[in-house]
Amino acid sequence: SGVVPTKPTITASTCCYCGVGCGVLIEHDGERILGVQGDPDHPANFGRLCSKGASLHLTGDVDARARYPELRLGKTPARSRTDWDTALDHAATVFADTITAHGPDSVAFYISGQLLTEDYYAFNKLARAMVHTNNIDSNSRLCMSSAVVGYKRSLGADAPPCSYEDIEQSDCLLIVGSNMAYAHPVLFRRLEAAKAARPQMRIIVVDPRRTDTCELADLHLAILPGTDVALFHGLLHLLLWEGWIDRAYIDAHTQGFDELKLLVRDYSPASVARLCGISLEELQHCARLISSAPTFLSLWCMGLNQSTAGSAKNSALINLHLATGQIGKPGAGPFSLTGQPNAMGGRETGSLSNLLPGHREAGNPEHRAEVAAYWGVEQLPVTNGLSAVELFDAVHDGRIKALWIACTNPAQSLPDQQKIHEALSRCPCVVVQDAFATTETCSFADLLLPAASWGEKDGTVTNSERRISRVRRAVTPPGEARTDWSIICDFARRLEQRLRPGRPSLFDFTSPEALFEEYKGLTAGRDLDYSGLSHAVLEQLGPQQWPFPPGARQGTPRLYLDGRFSTADGRARFIAEPYRAAKELRDARYPLLLNTGRLRDQWHGMSRTGTAAQLFGHAPDAVLGLHPDDLRQRQLRHGDLVRLRSRRGSLILPVHADEALLPGQAWLPMHWGNRFLKGLGINVLTQPAFDPLSKQPELKISAVDVEKVELP
Ligand code: SF4
Repeated sequence: SGVVPTKPTITASTCCYCGVGCGVLIEHDGERILGVQGDPDHPANFGRLCSKGASLHLTGDVDARARYPELRLGKTPARSRTDWDTALDHAATVFADTITAHGPDSVAFYISGQLLTEDYYAFNKLARAMVHTNNIDSNSRLCMSSAVVGYKRSLGADAPPCSYEDIEQSDCLLIVGSNMAYAHPVLFRRLEAAKAARPQMRIIVVDPRRTDTCELADLHLAILPGTDVALFHGLLHLLLWEGWIDRAYIDAHTQGFDELKLLVRDYSPASVARLCGISLEELQHCARLISSAPTFLSLWCMGLNQSTAGSAKNSALINLHLATGQIGKPGAGPFSLTGQPNAMGGRETGSLSNLLPGHREAGNPEHRAEVAAYWGVEQLPVTNGLSAVELFDAVHDGRIKALWIACTNPAQSLPDQQKIHEALSRCPCVVVQDAFATTETCSFADLLLPAASWGEKDGTVTNSERRISRVRRAVTPPGEARTDWSIICDFARRLEQRLRPGRPSLFDFTSPEALFEEYKGLTAGRDLDYSGLSHAVLEQLGPQQWPFPPGARQGTPRLYLDGRFSTADGRARFIAEPYRAAKELRDARYPLLLNTGRLRDQWHGMSRTGTAAQLFGHAPDAVLGLHPDDLRQRQLRHGDLVRLRSRRGSLILPVHADEALLPGQAWLPMHWGNRFLKGLGINVLTQPAFDPLSKQPELKISAVDVEKVELP
């Protein structure tokens, strides 16, 4: 009585889960986050949130959080609590001694698409300018690196050309290898609303599984896993045969069409339909829908990217847009959906081993010289850096002796998990910087550094449509957790004292804003130029799409409107690559193909979503899906416990009948790790084979078999 409840304070920020990049209003009292609302003014979501975003406030200051630095000296079984000075001095001494004794490439950094742009930039400068190694890669390697290659080879720059509003304005959408109803739910809601308002809009879904996204489809092509390149070439063959290509556009704006034409001549519709496991009529219907629509837009995600042919799949899909002139206009274009909240920021800041900041290449001497001059160092490292799978191979065989992992859980998320666990146990020094202390990777940490998390840090992220949004701090992190950028800069300064004493520091940053100010200069004059942006401009104008050069008053919704691409001659390139079968095929011992994917209410390895009980309501357990015919053939019943085996390992879990699958296929959600499966996680089954250009591993196709497990 008499006590008037105070209204919570509101801080606007951005959701930390998927690449849609929804604006979130955080309700808090300065100490605790009390609730979240969708930001009605954010152009990605206009107030909507999905189940994950709407539960963000339940996953903040939870028991699973890392609160204090912990250090294990020698190979004692347990880490002990320590203070930050001891922790960072220890790390700096070990890294400096390792570099001095074994060279800069004996250390590596494995970072995350969930870091902010400012964190990424600090890590990159640390690895390339300070340590002098290109051994810095990110979990975006598992997510978007095939799309990066696709855009660069075909269009000349890693720049998705479309905006979310193009999805709403398009007349025909081709959604390939993406269950956006689950993985990008708010964008899917926007698409549902657009289709309801414009029923003439046509939606084609290409996916071996009949996912919830197919509910919206006018045509679902359930192609056999891995046959996408053949499908796209077969479609182009049909478009050519029927005269449904845009010859004027091809002549004016592209190169290489004749070579591609020769290649797709061999992809006759009948043979493609047979190879893809669909009917000729379905293939023809698809070509007709694409060609008859005034505007055509394609969306894709992991189904294309996580493949040993990921680069070829991306290029073959972009070929369709170039051949029909369906790019560079509203409602049209190839549009990849990014998985992580700041996978794009990672690509921009050069956070894959082969990249440098500002969409530059680590293998390009001019690019190296530009960045070295900007940073005031003599030169940048020349030796190729290692990509995710290669990097952990090098840890496994002892070439890398000190490994720094930030904001990601490779012990759960990388393929061939047993080998990753062996690698981490063998590594003389594993530093893990994470907000959550319960990940599989944390159990291998010799040094655990507690990091601030969503709602506790400031900076920027870029979403799938190139839109840069502010991430804002509402509360202080729990315990002694610190922001990622400040941990990196503090460590870097201690390393400088040991490796280049007496020289001016490269890491005199006092805020994320200072990092952004330095970094943005490296985008100046490049395709992504956002040197006209700053934290202050974002405060004033709200989220903006790059390019945003100096003097701009608003961002750039669409690219290539004038038909000039980012190649040297301004012409886009057709890429002529044949269909190649997946690396691992079915045989008598492993007669099923395992696909892995996402559930609606979980995120990655569940380090955050796994802390909210209500997010298990939709799917409480990891369950293997098999077609009812495959269950019958093996005398299995819905709910039986089975052993699922691949060439690399096995798991025991329940099996369910799933009519959404084709016979011969198996499906597992990718979220469960060993904390939940009481042994090893699902990536004990998956294979480390990767695409030769993008180095992205084939997480979507592994040959497996199942057998019933009799309970004693
Ligand atoms: Fe967050 Fe993605 Fe859901 Fe939006 S759609 S609330 S960004 S998880």
